[in-house]
Amino acid sequence: MNYQVAVIGGGPAGYTAAETAGKAGLSVVLFERQNLGGVCLNEGCIPTKTLLYAAKTYDSARHASKYGVSAADVSFDLPKIIARKQKVVRKLVLGIKSKLTAHGATIVQGEATILDKHHVQCAGQTYTCENLILCTGSDTFVPPITGIDQVPYWTHRNALDNKELPASLAIIGGGVIGMEFASFFNSLGVQVTVIEMMDEILGGMDKALSAMLRADYAKRGITFLLNAKVTVFAKDADHIKVSYEQAEDSRSVTAERLLMSVGRRPVTNDFGLENLALKKTERNHIAVDEHLQTSLPGVYACGDLTGFSLLAHTAVREAEVAVHHILGMEDAMSYRAVPGVVYTNPEIAGVGETEESLQHKGIDYRVSQLPMSYSGRFVAENEGVNGVCKLLLAADDTLLGAHLLGNPASEIITLAGMAIELRLRASDWKKMIFPHPTVCEIFKEAL
Ligand SMILES: Cc1cc2nc3c(=O)[nH]c(=O)nc-3n(C[C@H](O)[C@H](O)[C@H](O)COP(=O)(O)OP(=O)(O)OC[C@H]3O[C@@H](n4cnc5c(N)ncnc54)[C@H](O)[C@@H]3O)c2cc1C
Repeated sequence: MNYQVAVIGGGPAGYTAAETAGKAGLSVVLFERQNLGGVCLNEGCIPTKTLLYAAKTYDSARHASKYGVSAADVSFDLPKIIARKQKVVRKLVLGIKSKLTAHGATIVQGEATILDKHHVQCAGQTYTCENLILCTGSDTFVPPITGIDQVPYWTHRNALDNKELPASLAIIGGGVIGMEFASFFNSLGVQVTVIEMMDEILGGMDKALSAMLRADYAKRGITFLLNAKVTVFAKDADHIKVSYEQAEDSRSVTAERLLMSVGRRPVTNDFGLENLALKKTERNHIAVDEHLQTSLPGVYACGDLTGFSLLAHTAVREAEVAVHHILGMEDAMSYRAVPGVVYTNPEIAGVGETEESLQHKGIDYRVSQLPMSYSGRFVAENEGVNGVCKLLLAADDTLLGAHLLGNPASEIITLAGMAIELRLRASDWKKMIFPHPTVCEIFKEAL
């Protein structure tokens, strides 16, 4: 029951922390109250991408004639799509379990409670630890809008497991999660309405590219209501009525189903966190330093709990940094190049600064922008579709930000992230040999 490291939470932050610590020879115990893999594997990144891939395959088959291929009677089977999603999740969760076991980590199933920085209670036992890493993640935030308790609504969990398509779906929140579900249900023929309080979808991504993506989906039948503040939900026969204010007018839409996706908030309650009296940030997140150490030496917080980016890959890197600090290795967290991807079809991805963030910070920059059709591979694989590659460069020619609209943005954005993190100048980056023909050659063209 004595460990060098105790980890609470088995999501990307927690399992990475346990794996990294175990690999380095530290004795480590990990507590998980639900499923290993956390939100990411069980109800987030992986299941959404599995569903989106099915929708993309369906779309590709329907539009195959653009490529001279005929596919007759294309159809889909939603229960089979959901069943495959569950199979994928099971396989990956088992993979995490075997990796942790292989590295000597002890996995304890149950809700952990912190007694003090050296003692954690779980499943009736008390565990002693030298270092404690908190990785409890985040949960769906449902705003207390009038009537929300009177109407049935989905969160992402219901949307992932639903086996019967509604005729219409109102999605509250046009952020990443909202747009990925909008894309999925639109592909499967559901009449989707996205209601967003801000003046553009996908806040935090490049605004111009987000607008292009929105225009594309609008053509495919999604209704977007921007600058629309939802005020009341009500039951309307077998539909849900969503009332909202827009341009000082009161309006409403009805839909058969309602999906709430306005945001997530860190899990900080009900596990004895108050016993540590940790310092918090202005936004009430746990304050951590560049090593992910909290105000209490030996106690670390990683992943969504820190509220920095609410992304699995940030959680993974934070966990590595925390364990490296425990091991006395030189390492520090940098948020300069955290890629953000929206797995719509086409995908949109960005890394580093946006034009909006640079303007806000008063930093000078120049834009180098090209249509994706400058990449031969992109043209070969995207009939009748275009996209954009936008690079933001500093006066000294280092890359500040990169933004892409077009497939496979998710796969090539890391290249730009490396250039930003390593502070490469355009001239250095251009000297790299890019394989031909690949979509990532667009960077070389745009530099
Ligand atoms: C629909 C959806 C799609 C997403 N898609 C992406 C994507 O494509 N890419 C991406 O990067 N991110 C995506 N995310 C976000 C991603 O899932 C999170 O950023 C990531 O899971 C955070 O990892 P974490 O380890 O901090 O926390 P989590 O994954 O939330 O894991 C925390 C774990 O801690 C456990 N826990 C909490 N309290 C206790 C306790 N007291 N005792 C024991 N166990 C406890 C929980 O059960 C949970 O398993 C998505 C999220 C959602 C909801």
